[in-house]
This record gives sequence, C-alpha cells and structure tokens, in this order.
Amino acid sequence: MTKVVRVSPDNPDAHVLIECARVIKAGGLVAFPTETVYGLGADAFNEEAVRRVFKVKGRPPNNPLIVHIASLNQLGEVALSIPERAWKLIRWSWPGPLTLVLKRKEDLPQEVTAGLDTVAVRMPANPIALKLIELSRTALVAPSANLSGKPSPTTAEHVIQDLYGKVDVIIDGGETIYGLESTIIDITAEPPEILRPGAIPPEAIERVLNVEVRVRPLVKSPVTGRMRRYAPRTPIIVVEARDYSDLRSYVRRVKEVVKKNVSKRLRVAVIASLETCQHYGDLGVGVKVLSLGSRRDLFSVGRKLFKVLRDVDRLNVDIAIVEGFEEKGLGISVMDRLRKASCYNVVKF
Ligand code: AMP
Ligand code: MG
Repeated sequence: MTKVVRVSPDNPDAHVLIECARVIKAGGLVAFPTETVYGLGADAFNEEAVRRVFKVKGRPPNNPLIVHIASLNQLGEVALSIPERAWKLIRWSWPGPLTLVLKRKEDLPQEVTAGLDTVAVRMPANPIALKLIELSRTALVAPSANLSGKPSPTTAEHVIQDLYGKVDVIIDGGETIYGLESTIIDITAEPPEILRPGAIPPEAIERVLNVEVRVRPLVKSPVTGRMRRYAPRTPIIVVEARDYSDLRSYVRRVKEVVKKNVSKRLRVAVIASLETCQHYGDLGVGVKVLSLGSRRDLFSVGRKLFKVLRDVDRLNVDIAIVEGFEEKGLGISVMDRLRKASCYNVVKF
C-alpha cells in the first residue's frame, strides 16, 4: 500500500514528516519533492532499502545513486578528504542543485556507489527534503522518483503514475522549482568536469571557481544509445540548428520534417518554443502543438520540459517533432535531456 500525503513546502507539517522519517528508518521508501525533481528516498546506510530502490525503479545496479544530506556534519559520514575547490562550491551552492563527486567513506554500502571509490553528494534546498533528511537522522539516497527510462517527475502526480503501489509513501509538495536534475561535477578532475549538465549552468560554476570547467561531451555509444532515457512512449525527433538566430528559416526546416512525417500518414505533435509555436498552425488540423516556453527564458523551458514530455503521451500521436534550443547556460541541460529522450534521433541543419 502506498500512502499519499500532502505537505506544504512553505510550512512543512512536522508530524507528517516524523511519520515519514520513521518509514525511512524502518527501511521503507518515501518519495519526496526536492527543488530539482521528485526523489525516491531511502536510508543510504541500509543495504536492503537501497537494493529496493533499484528494484522498484527498474534501475541497472551499475548506475550509482546520489546521497542527499541536510547538514555539513553528515558530509563527513559519507565523504573523505574534501578539497578546497569543493568547499568553495559547497559554500556557494548548498543547499542547492549542485552534486559533487568526492572520495567515499568506507562505511557506505557498495550498492549506493555501484562499487566506485567515489560518492556523489548534495544538500537539496527544498524545506520538505531537508526536514525529512534531518528527522531521519541518516543520509538518504534519492534518485529521481520515476521508472528508469521515463521522464523525471516534477509533480506528485508523475510519481503516482510510475510508482503507486510500489513505494511506502509519496509526499505531495507541489511542483518542483527547477524541473531539471542537479548538475553533477567531478571536482577532483583537472580541469573540473561536469558529468551531467543540470539545474546549475557551467558558466556559473566557472565564475565561482575562476577556472574553466569541462562539460563531458555527449557521445552516442552503441550501449547507452540503445537505452532510452527521460523518454515518453511517443518516439521523438529533435530538430537542431547550428544557429537559432534566424528563426524563420529554422521553422521552415522543422516544418519540412513535420510534413515528411505527415505524408507517411503519421499523427504528429510539434513541441516548440513560445516564439515559434504559432507558425505550425497551418500544417493541418491533425498536427498538435505544445509550447515549452520562451527561448529567452530557458529556466522556464527546463522547468516545463519533463511535464511536456509526459503530456505528449496523452495526445495520441505517433511521433513528436521537438525544436532544439541554443546550447548556452541551461540550454546545455535542456538539449542533453532532449537528445537522450529521442535516443539521439536528431536532425541537424
Ligand atoms: P539520478 O539518480 O537518476 O539522478 O542519477 C544519478 C547520476 O549520478 C547517475 O547518472 C550517476 O552516473 C551519477 N553518479 C552517482 N554517483 C556517482 C559517482 N560516484 N561518480 C560519478 N557519477 C556518479
Ligand atoms: Mg533519474
């Protein structure tokens, strides 16, 4: 049985969260909101509970989990020898959506880090998340609370769609703020390397560290390419431009791709930006259009992205053609998710 409880993020009800913390301590699974996406929480020091997290999500055991903490004391329980550069980022971003890869403490179960000698850690900024971790008196693993491969959940409704009946509690704390997962950085690498672009753009990290950081390039390897991630059931084609400054000619290109698919008698949806979505109105009544928001506000695009990817499955179309965004700032994270959601089905002009 899954219990769904509603908690206000502005004023979290301590009684409800004490109950949730008891569930965690007893080895149970509690889905909760963070400022990025909803997480599936379990006691990071309880091997049995951690194994259940992998099982419930259908997550491959070689994909390590992020450990979530609520205080700097807890950092010492999971990580060792923290370099000055890491402290700089910690002071600047925590609580917040930046995950650091650090040397791990021995006591942490192998399952959490998938056998690596490093651990990924962050302190989330959502008051419900912080309070839950604090009351649990243990660090929590908290991968996104979705079935492995699906778009990450940004509302409790998304968690219910994927995990109802499989977890003990789902805390409904409303819509998440960033809607994109945390940025993961390997601070021990020289130069520091972003392993996953996320809610904090690389440029902001560079300003804090005053060094250039590398963003690990997206490679479509035959192994990872086969597994769709962040993906709705509906197949996706991403139409990218080398340059988005001439939106008129870009829209013409996207339309060509749409028409090609319509001519194959496929039902098509277009996922576009606010600036361009009205230009797809003349493609016929069958073509449905969803907007991700303005190109000038990539924060909002990121925030809406996973919701729109879930919504597209309700349109009853055979394929979704998705516009690309400029790869700057949060645009890097948005394009990372879109390419993966499409299983690298990308057309580039
Ligand atoms: P998720 O829990 O779905 O947000 O995914 C967590 C991500 O963190 C995965 O993509 C992992 O590859 C990454 N991760 C977790 N632990 C480590 C680590 N020790 N070193 C590098 N990456 C990690
Ligand atoms: Mg995930």
